[in-house]
Amino acid sequence: MKNIKECLDLLAQPKTIFITTHHKPDGDAIGSMMALAHYFLKKGHNVHPVSPSEVPDFLTWIPGIELAMNYEAEPKLVEKVLASSDIIFCLDFNDLSRVKSMESLLLGATQPKVLIDHHMFPKPTFEYGESDTGKSSTCEMVYDFINLAGDNELIDAQMGTCLYTGAMTDTGSFRFPACTASVHHMIADLMRKGLKHSVIHEEIYDAWSARRMKFLGYILHQKMDIFPEYNAGLICISQQDLDLFDVRTGDTEGLVNYPLSIAGINFATLIIERKDGIKMSFRSKGNVDVNSFAREHFNGGGHFNASGGQSSQSFLETIVRFKQILSEFHAQLNNNN
Ligand code: 5GP
Ligand code: MN
Repeated sequence: MKNIKECLDLLAQPKTIFITTHHKPDGDAIGSMMALAHYFLKKGHNVHPVSPSEVPDFLTWIPGIELAMNYEAEPKLVEKVLASSDIIFCLDFNDLSRVKSMESLLLGATQPKVLIDHHMFPKPTFEYGESDTGKSSTCEMVYDFINLAGDNELIDAQMGTCLYTGAMTDTGSFRFPACTASVHHMIADLMRKGLKHSVIHEEIYDAWSARRMKFLGYILHQKMDIFPEYNAGLICISQQDLDLFDVRTGDTEGLVNYPLSIAGINFATLIIERKDGIKMSFRSKGNVDVNSFAREHFNGGGHFNASGGQSSQSFLETIVRFKQILSEFHAQLNNNN
């Protein structure tokens, strides 16, 4: 993969740019995609921001989100705009399987692909790019990219809002170890450019439906198991639970973190039975490597302390298998320490 600096030459004249991110996009995915879209528009390019699946409700207020297309809802339109594009930016993922049903479309695309991402082990699919696991968020990397292009003065409050959203959500509101001094420098700069940070916190964290809050209460009370002997917590949500509370995209966001707020717990897992399969999320504190765990056992990956995966077994079989692996994993961790 060539250094991202080299792709600046491709952008010297106005281009049509396809920007995409991962399936079931989160704050960093949508924030980085829309910040880059705003930037390219200001530079006189034509842009097509495309989410592989629906934008969750908690992000529908993001400036410019009405420009974003949803591949699952409009596959033909997305195929058309991709065909008309000169270059493809891939943000917040590093393996084309992460765009799910849009994978074959991107695999067939002949335009150069540019990666901006902070996950581990990028696939060699991208002609240009930057992959840095030391970065807090893809949003921080988009900020760096704009600076690299010498365009800091083009960053406005709208772009700042998008960038802040991803940096805030990927760092657990600036508390995870990945939140370095450079994140705070970026935010100081964004604030000088007019960023209103408290509005973003309210949009993301204080805009829940009562239904979602009751779902959280139900899950924590009824569906969370704590295994102090393994320093682990497990939340299992069935399709029936999702139906009972009419759970929508985004409503389960952040649930996996709750067990980590219990003293002594450093490994948290969420297993969800969705219509399209069993989805798993892993979070950890300290030296518990959930990226390897997800890769080894559940066909996934991500970061050292935050990863995801899936299972082709049934919901109950997955839970049984997870519990078996959990005790072995804990023993292995203790042996390594
Ligand atoms: P989440 O649990 O929020 O879905 O994902 C946590 C982190 O792991 C995110 O950075 C996400 O991009 C990554 N991730 C989630 N699921 C998968 C997966 O199936 N494969 C890979 N490689 N990464 C994943
Ligand atoms: Mn991210």
